[in-house]
Amino acid sequence: RSTFNAELVRQDFPILQQDVHGKPLVYLDNAATTQKPEAVIQAIVDYYRKDNSNVHRGAHALAERATDKFEQARVKVAGLINAAEPRQIIWTRGTSEGINLVAASWGRSQLREGDRILVSAMEHHSNIVPWQMIAAQMGATVEPIPVSNDGTLDLDALQGMLDARVRMVACGHVSNALGSVNPVEQIVLMAHSVGALCLIDGAQAMSHLQVDVQALDCDFYVFSAHKMFGPTGVGVLYGKAELLEAMPPYQGGGEMIETVSFAGTTYNQLPYKFEAGTPDIAGVIALGAAVDYLQSLDREGAERHEQELLEYAEAKARAMPGITLVGTSAKRTGVLSFLMDGTHPHDVGMLLDQQGVAVRTGNHCAQPIMDQLGIPGTVRASFCFYNTRADIDRLFEALTKAKQFLVEE
Ligand code: PMP
Repeated sequence: RSTFNAELVRQDFPILQQDVHGKPLVYLDNAATTQKPEAVIQAIVDYYRKDNSNVHRGAHALAERATDKFEQARVKVAGLINAAEPRQIIWTRGTSEGINLVAASWGRSQLREGDRILVSAMEHHSNIVPWQMIAAQMGATVEPIPVSNDGTLDLDALQGMLDARVRMVACGHVSNALGSVNPVEQIVLMAHSVGALCLIDGAQAMSHLQVDVQALDCDFYVFSAHKMFGPTGVGVLYGKAELLEAMPPYQGGGEMIETVSFAGTTYNQLPYKFEAGTPDIAGVIALGAAVDYLQSLDREGAERHEQELLEYAEAKARAMPGITLVGTSAKRTGVLSFLMDGTHPHDVGMLLDQQGVAVRTGNHCAQPIMDQLGIPGTVRASFCFYNTRADIDRLFEALTKAKQFLVEE
């Protein structure tokens, strides 16, 4: 039986207990960033009040405490995604930096003229542009894996695209624009069948799904702390150890070296080889607190609750005349993307905001799929486990008013 209780869990998030424009806040912009539980906020405060010092360098008590907590967070993240070893967890600034790291480091050392990189047509710009940049330098190409208009990745088309020149298949686990959950297990297998690597962008998956990188057998998995109840400024790159070992450093500087001399420099071991400079120590420790928080929840119960919310919201959307859902693939999580006939998404978003309902409007950094659908963008309500049916009810009350104002006047 589920022990998950959204009403109780909400109490852990102080920011949700506020009014916006005179109405209790309904936060439905979780795909942009999730809110932070008290435990995460407290970890940041505690760090700066008690432990602040630089990691791995100092010979004093504070530095030792900071280093211990910083490295404990790595162990926690490794545990959360079932990485075999903590050294496979590289701290970055976020998903974008993780993909840039792989594209630049692996790409520069491995790509040859004529090589092919495949990305899904519904990727976030973060999982398109870094590949285009390295492909341009190396004479490789970046090609879209077709996606149907309902937001389903076309596996047959992918099969048809695969050949020995494909070196990397990079795909989102969950689409931030449409909510599609991609069949990443199959995509990894298919990539491997032609000797290509597979990078999964897990930015939108971590808050909704339980991820096991060993079961998935992906080569790289990247995500952002701020989309999984941790702070901004921190992200994670997981990679297979032998791949990370073989990759050259991404940035040079302190921490990433073993010895430096003008005769030549040798690099540090994993994970430090990829962690030049002073990291966001408080952020990493607070991500550790977010992992503890997630693991204290009934995750299956939370997933069921989110799925019920999505079904509830979708039923309401279908029952409301003038609302068109965008992205209705069979497997989805966390996102209701839609249009209101005869209106611009931006105007709808503004009118929702005035009623205390926070959504996002626009192309959601996924311009290619919006172009394919022939729309400039959508209104996106994105949920997570602290949302309730009451939030969805408020969304649709606000939409009804927005519609009266925009369409029926
Ligand atoms: N990929 C996906 C699927 C995302 O949703 C996002 C954030 N919207 C990113 C990548 C980029 O993440 P970040 O801005 O934290 O680097």
